[in-house]
Amino acid sequence: MSLSVIIVPCLIDNYAYLIRCEETGHTAVIDVPDAYPILNMINELGWKLNSILITHHHSDHVDGVEQLQKLTGANVIGAKSDSHRLPNLNISVSTGDVISIGNQQAEILNTPGHTIGHISYFFKDSKKVFTGDSLMSLGCGRLFEGTHKMMWNTLKLFMKLPKETLVYSGHEYSYSNAKFALSVDSSNTRLKEYYKEIQDLLKDNKYTVPTSLELEFAINPFLRSALPEFKLGLDMCQKTDHEVFQYLRILKDNF
Ligand SMILES: [Zn+2]
Repeated sequence: MSLSVIIVPCLIDNYAYLIRCEETGHTAVIDVPDAYPILNMINELGWKLNSILITHHHSDHVDGVEQLQKLTGANVIGAKSDSHRLPNLNISVSTGDVISIGNQQAEILNTPGHTIGHISYFFKDSKKVFTGDSLMSLGCGRLFEGTHKMMWNTLKLFMKLPKETLVYSGHEYSYSNAKFALSVDSSNTRLKEYYKEIQDLLKDNKYTVPTSLELEFAINPFLRSALPEFKLGLDMCQKTDHEVFQYLRILKDNF
């Protein structure tokens, strides 16, 4: 059983993801910053779009939903709690619900912080999580609506997933995120190596997504907030994990 993923770059630095159950051909897209790059890709591949999954209400994730729905007839799926400010939903979902893309099941994770109604889609069997603007490679989304506590709890939820889980986030922010990560974790050898890898990938017009949770544990300062050695480097040994996270998030907002 497998779930294939096609990365579709949209707008300036957004990513949409076309996913397909290889057994049934059922196809979905996660977020629609712009309908046309996704339509072009579907046509090129000869696929039919069945579902549109939304992570959160920001316009750079939903602006193309209505048009793509009209042109393909796909079902639109998003958070029930945010349905008042999302495009029209055919299926509203809440935390813990499970949706099927063919034979592949995705669990709905409640991942607030960047926005209150933000959700993520975790495909357990294929160990893939689509995180929108919550967990990102080397970073996490800015807190537009939620509190630091909310986002820290969201990150803790991701940390409980299997470490080999691949993380597909909504933006290409790895280079700027890595620069911040180095500023607070300068002795991290894996981070220094990865910073070079990112530059090589981007130079070749390649994507830095997906990443894996295992890699993020090693390089993402926000996920490392709870580690004693990381706290020591910041001279914050006496602080709680949440306080370290909050300190880093405020520092990044002004970086
Ligand atoms: Zn957003």
